[in-house]
Amino acid sequence: MNINARGDPGRAVSRRFSAGIWMFGRFVDRFATDGYGPEVPMPDAIRAAATVEGLEAVDLNFPFWGPGASLSAVRAALDETGLRAQAITPEIYTRKFRLGAFTNPDPKVRQEAIDLVARATEVGQELGVEYMKIWPGQDGFDYPLQADPRQLWGLSIDGMQKVAEPHPGLPFAIEYKPKEPRTHMLFSSAARTLLAIEDIGLDNVGVLIDFGHSMYGGESPAASVELCLAKGRLIDIDLNDNFRSWDDDMTVGSVHVVETLEFLLSLKRAGWDKPWKLDQFPFREDPVQAARASIQMLSALLDLADRIDDERLAAARERQDALAAQALVFEELFGAVKMPR
Ligand code: FE
Ligand code: FE
Repeated sequence: MNINARGDPGRAVSRRFSAGIWMFGRFVDRFATDGYGPEVPMPDAIRAAATVEGLEAVDLNFPFWGPGASLSAVRAALDETGLRAQAITPEIYTRKFRLGAFTNPDPKVRQEAIDLVARATEVGQELGVEYMKIWPGQDGFDYPLQADPRQLWGLSIDGMQKVAEPHPGLPFAIEYKPKEPRTHMLFSSAARTLLAIEDIGLDNVGVLIDFGHSMYGGESPAASVELCLAKGRLIDIDLNDNFRSWDDDMTVGSVHVVETLEFLLSLKRAGWDKPWKLDQFPFREDPVQAARASIQMLSALLDLADRIDDERLAAARERQDALAAQALVFEELFGAVKMPR
């Protein structure tokens, strides 16, 4: 089974948008431990998300957060706003899992992680999600000699098999990230995640590429998209930006315009038919305005991608002519600027 989320190559790509609900919640870091704003129960975060023009779906953390955030309250907020639950992200990275979820040294805690994902999957199926998002953020290590890497690898494979095998019709997307909260995370790159997926051996497990994670992991995000597409394993993407040394989760295109465009071009060529999904942490910005800024930038970059002559770009790439390929983009960006051909 090919679980790439893609339509027919060449057809019009999506102009729809979605977002992780956490970007409308409350942000805490290790300094502002009282949070950068008031607590926002998830149903209110859904209502805030619904004020962003063009946003049609949300990725929901589970358990739902905040007072009164029951399944019925979340469902009511979704119904009231018309937003759809696109994915569920089980919180297998909280204090209980500080030494790991699937890779925790205590088998009881490992089982709790698997049980939490199972409960989240039931809720996801009730809400009709497209996929489950698995981010085992605490699975890894901090210090040299702390853990046996081969054992962690085996436990991760085992955990993913246990959560995904009972639901062959539902995609499970592993989101990789190089580090944070651990100094070394197990699913740290596109290549390691694809290698693990080979070991997992299930058709319904694939990859979620977070643009920022790929950037600060030293990858070319576009090359990672192409690798995951080639393997038939790209389930979804997260969009944001950073300065390449940390997961800053800034607005789309705020730092790396050209690499974001290249990422979009790879997805466009594949006929990307899912909403363009935002994953941001606007600590000091208004979350609704930050989502609007990203959607405006994405719309502009998708327009720009449409104006780029595919055949000329393909011809430049055929010759691996860097300046000619970049000229096609810079002429569209800066108009009168003529680049060498
Ligand atoms: Fe993400
Ligand atoms: Fe992130």
